[in-house]
This record gives sequence, structure tokens and C-alpha cells, in this order.
Amino acid sequence: MDLILRASRIAGHADANALFDIGIDGGKIAAIAPRLEAGGRDIDLGGRLVTPPFCETHIHLDKSCILDRCHSEKGTLDEAIAQVTEQKKGFSAEDVYQRACKTLEKAISHGTMHMRTHVEVDPGIQLRGLDGVMQAIGDYRWGIDVEVCVFPQEGLTNNPGTEALIVESMNKGARVVGAAPYIDTDPRGQIDRVFRIAREFDADIDMHLDFGNSAEHLDIDYVCELTEKFGYGGRVAVGHVTKLLYLAPARLDAITKRLASAGVAVTILPSTDLYLMGREQGHNPTRGVVRAHELLHHGVNCSLSTNNVLNPFTPFGDCSLVRMANLYANVAHAGARDFASCLDMVTKRPARLLRREDYGIEVGKSADLVVLDCSSSEQAVSELAVPLYGFKRGRMSFARKPVELFRP
Ligand SMILES: [Zn+2]
Repeated sequence: MDLILRASRIAGHADANALFDIGIDGGKIAAIAPRLEAGGRDIDLGGRLVTPPFCETHIHLDKSCILDRCHSEKGTLDEAIAQVTEQKKGFSAEDVYQRACKTLEKAISHGTMHMRTHVEVDPGIQLRGLDGVMQAIGDYRWGIDVEVCVFPQEGLTNNPGTEALIVESMNKGARVVGAAPYIDTDPRGQIDRVFRIAREFDADIDMHLDFGNSAEHLDIDYVCELTEKFGYGGRVAVGHVTKLLYLAPARLDAITKRLASAGVAVTILPSTDLYLMGREQGHNPTRGVVRAHELLHHGVNCSLSTNNVLNPFTPFGDCSLVRMANLYANVAHAGARDFASCLDMVTKRPARLLRREDYGIEVGKSADLVVLDCSSSEQAVSELAVPLYGFKRGRMSFARKPVELFRP
């Protein structure tokens, strides 16, 4: 055994108080038992919680960490898009690479080991964003597995040349086709083309969808329709969907059932949705965060993700998914009995969305593990537990010391 994590509590285990030794060998979880006898390195976790790693399904590495170059005043979605469009002109692949590295290091240091990054391609940026991100992905493979979802942030049907760049990106190794139909002059036309490209490459789909402050012009039914038509259940995700907040209960119920039966997953982006939504409402603004934990009860797979880091879309960001789960729980009225589900929405549920099969704390799986400074899943969310260690394929990828108090 290369390493044994002793006296661990395992997130999601039927007996929340049972302590286990987790044996790691050859990058895999080799044994889980109350007491493992083996000569080799060991770490006594003293009853701390071990979780499978955090997973981001929706983050933008290419436009992260540009806050110091921008001058936002209104804080609206239109302003954010305009500011980033302007900044993008000056992006070189090297610049994107440097900022992506910074963001990946933050993510790794908070226990994130799987990621889907959305990357913009259009005639302005060409493939410079993709090239920079791809280089960073290669350099940080020791700590995190990242896949690329390419998408047209400035429109597809109205922006000639963009479709060819998406196709070229898929040929260069992008795995997922993304979308932002609300920017397009022909939203349905964009959705049609995205499904067509995805089917051509046998790729998954992940769309920015129904992002706005009213229930007008919903595209979610159409996405469910195409998902069913093309047998794409389990391979389509939609992000934001803040328009669902404005629906009457019966209509929301019908859409929820449709999402579950079609197999369309939902990603909530609490920090961005809170920051950008409700800006036009001067009084008592809507906070814009869909109640994902309630969708879970109806069979919809949901995840919580960071989206933007330090840019005009979201001028915050430490890439901590523990913090995102806590922020979500607080703003979406998730109570103590939902806290474990909130942790699931940044761990095993996004892993399912990303279709990561080699995931979870089971013998034979890759030894991707995070140790949190707490003793239960609920505490991880309620107390913003600090990640103390990460192990990627059995190798320690980060560590930080638990706090020490110095009594007089
Ligand atoms: Zn996004």
C-alpha cells in the first residue's frame, strides 16, 4: 500500500460516524476497512471527512482574472458582455494561458479535480482562447482533469465564421458543444445548429439558457424536445435558467417533470446569478437563483458551479465549491436537512453530469480524494469546511494546515 488515510469519515456512507482506513495503491483506492494493516506511509485524519473531489461543470478559464482591466458601472449582463468583448480583442494565447493557470491553481487548492471549462470562439478571438486554455489543461493534468466546451458568446447565426471555428475546435480536442441562444438573433436556429454539431461529433451539449429577468421567450421546452428527439438524455445540461423563477407553480412543475424525463441536467451559478440578475428592479430585486435542491426531489440532476472568476460577469471568486454550496444554501432557503444534497451538487452530481465513471470512494476507483476539516457532509456546507489535503490519482496534490490556537 502506497498510503493509508486512517480514521476517516466517508461522505455519503450509510454510517456517518463509522471510521475507516482508506488504502491507496498504484493511484487507485485499494482497500477500505475499519483497520488496515500495512507497512507504508499513513496519515491519521482523526475522524475528518473524506469526500470524492469537487467538480466544476461550468467555469470560464479564458476570461477569468481580468477585473483589473475592466471598468464596470452598471453591473448588468449587457455591460459584462460588452466589456469582455472589448477586452477579448487584446487576448493572446499566452495571456489566456497565464490567467487560466492562476484559476486552475485556485481550483486545485480548494479540492476541485474535475472541470468543464466553457471557452469562447468567434471571428474576433479566433482560437487564441482555446489554445491558451488547452496548454494550461495539459500543464495541470497532475491535479485536475479538464474538458473544454466551446461556445459562441457573441452569437452563432448572426456571427459569420463562428460555426466553422466551433467545428475546428471540436477537431482540435474540445469535447462538448456549448451555446448562448439568448445572445443570438435566432435563438432556436442556434440551438438547432448546436445539436447538429454535437451529433456530428458524438459530443455532449452544455448551454447557457433562459438567462433573464422574466419568463418571456423560454427555450427550455425546445431543448427538452430536441434532447428526446435525438436520444440525447443524460448528455445535455443547461446553465442559469433564471427565467424559471418567474413561472407560475404549475408551469414550473411541468417543466421540472420534462427536464427529469428528458434527462436534461441543470447547473446553477449562484454567484453570477446573484450578481447579474434583478439589476433592473429598483425595489426588492429578484435574487435570481433557481432552487436546485427542490428540482433534485423530482429527479432532475443538478450541479452548482463557479462560472466566472474576477471579471465583469462576477467580480468575485476563489474557486471554492464549498463556498459556492454554502452561498447557494443560504440564498436558496436550503435548510439543514438539505445541506448534504448541497454538498452532492458540487461533488457526485456534477461528476454524473460530466459522465465521470471512475469517480467515488470505492475500491478500484481512482484515488481522487479530498480531506475536509470537519466530520460530516452537513458541516462541510454549514461551516465552510477547509480542504486540508487533496489526492489526485493517489498523489498528494495540495495540503494546508488546520488552524492552531495559541492559548496563553
Ligand atoms: Zn457561463
